[in-house]
Amino acid sequence: METFQSAPRALRADTRIVSILAALIALVVFLIDALTPLDIAIAVLYVIVVLLVASTGNRTATIATAWGCVLLTIIGFLLSHDETVSSGAFARCAVSLLAIVTTGMLSLRNQAATTKMQEQLELLNLAHDAIVAHDMNERITFWNRGAEALYGYSAQQAIGQPIQRMTQAKSPVPHAQIRTELLCSGRWDGAITRMRHDGSEIVIASRAALLRDAKGMPRAVLATSNDITQRKRMEAELRRTEAFLLDAQRLSRTGSIAARLPAGAMWWSDEAYRIFDYSRDVAPSLDAILARTHPDDVAIVCGAHEAALSGARDIDVEHRLLLPDGSVKHVHYVAHRAATEREGDEYVGALMDVTETKLAQEALARSTAELAHVTRVTMLGELAASIAHEVTQPMAAIVTSGGAGLRWLNREKPEIAEAQQSITQMIRDAKRASEVIARIRAMARKRDSQPATLDVNEIVGETVELVRRELERHRVDVRTALAPSPLTVQCDRVQLQQVLINLIMNAAQAMAAVDGPRVLRIATGASHSDEGYAQITVQDSGTGIGEETARRLFEAFFTTKAEGMGMGLSICRSIIEAHGGRIWAEAPEEGGARLCFVLPENAGGDDEH
Ligand code: ADP
Repeated sequence: METFQSAPRALRADTRIVSILAALIALVVFLIDALTPLDIAIAVLYVIVVLLVASTGNRTATIATAWGCVLLTIIGFLLSHDETVSSGAFARCAVSLLAIVTTGMLSLRNQAATTKMQEQLELLNLAHDAIVAHDMNERITFWNRGAEALYGYSAQQAIGQPIQRMTQAKSPVPHAQIRTELLCSGRWDGAITRMRHDGSEIVIASRAALLRDAKGMPRAVLATSNDITQRKRMEAELRRTEAFLLDAQRLSRTGSIAARLPAGAMWWSDEAYRIFDYSRDVAPSLDAILARTHPDDVAIVCGAHEAALSGARDIDVEHRLLLPDGSVKHVHYVAHRAATEREGDEYVGALMDVTETKLAQEALARSTAELAHVTRVTMLGELAASIAHEVTQPMAAIVTSGGAGLRWLNREKPEIAEAQQSITQMIRDAKRASEVIARIRAMARKRDSQPATLDVNEIVGETVELVRRELERHRVDVRTALAPSPLTVQCDRVQLQQVLINLIMNAAQAMAAVDGPRVLRIATGASHSDEGYAQITVQDSGTGIGEETARRLFEAFFTTKAEGMGMGLSICRSIIEAHGGRIWAEAPEEGGARLCFVLPENAGGDDEH
């Protein structure tokens, strides 16, 4: 196969040198022809001049040269044969002229064909793809500009080189197999890794075709290639990301579910299959999900599906699954509408297996309840003395009123009205005693949280009553500043009392260590910092809270007291946070400590349930 060079520059010899050479030859031929008496057709040598000029590819110069040579031949003939023209000399001149004209015409035709081929080669150069041809010995015979750009070798460097060796080609398929396939089917396509001139590796997608000659013998291979390094890298990156995602899903027990509504077409990730405990051959569907849903939670799943059908933007549900082995899983499904298309809405969401979190939460709630119970009971020990006093007082009053009543009745003329009054007093005192006992029993009882609509002013009043003896014993001056109108919150009564008792007892203990006046201020009102929240503040004039203590105040088991458990404030925080509020400590300028907490204000409710 002939060698094509892509650059026209390379095709042409140095035009100037050729032109000078042609002129010299023309001069020498003319001088010999005109001045020597040689009887040979020397003018035939003008064809060399024509061929040389034609090799520059310049059509006009070729025509001019041919005519010039014709003219020189005639002048030479006339100069050398002035009076006697032999028929042989005439014939030699005619042959020379015929040779010059024929050579000129053939050269022009050849030039036209070369120009056409050059144009076609230029077209190949315009292609973005790398186009390379090589012979059956794998020597490169054509190398377009795309190939120059792709591999970094110029056409001059590449042509004549063995392609496989120069580019150190590597392919997943053995080279011999590619060659066999090319020879058998005439075509091959696939990915090959080649090395560029600068040593970097590129992956190319290559399509090769076999060229055969007229006899059907393989002559050359033409291959077009383009760079797919970036695409391959991205594919690998994608594959890696997918593997990461799968790992992340497995580790976090989060599956993905995508659904198109209303048609109902669904897609589940591997982890979603694992959560539902289905094998991969089960087609994802709402029915399949419902078959795994706990019977008591089917309504939740159907509700979420209906919400999606009616176009809800976000879906967020928690429900249980009942698996074939009887085990129960807690799942949390969060989805959002990803796209709205002609065929309907597409929802994409995450299905999280939150069973372990749920169980841990339940265990935490149980242990918090148990700890709360322990601290309550411990505190009750401290309060026992003052409470006993609270109870003995109405008891003594009952005995006194009973005696008085009997005396009124034992009179000769029984004083019924007086006796009635004594009995009424007895009933009132007995009620007071039983109320105190009921409160202690409620405090000591271990029970679940029972939220109710409570007036914080009322709870503060009750609690202060409960610890009044203790405060009196510590000579604490209690000053309350209660909200003028009822301020209701949704809260468990006993738990709220417990928070207040904790704060009040801490305050009393902090003030026991100081000599100055012991003032306990309890205030209620709408919170200034948290809009829509009720705030309760318990401020003392005690030792105050040091920096280290302030940082760790609400940590479980943090205590500065010899007999302390360090659970009081930690439990207070759990209780307040469980009711949607927050608790914090402040250091008032006047000294002492100020413990504040807020709870969401109950706007609607008014009576206790
Ligand atoms: P305990 O009372 O068993 O130590 P708490 O959790 O109720 O546990 O309190 C933790 C610590 O916080 C106390 O040991 C004390 O150092 C500090 N503290 C709590 N309330 C006050 C207060 N009103 N004034 C000063 N320090 C306080």
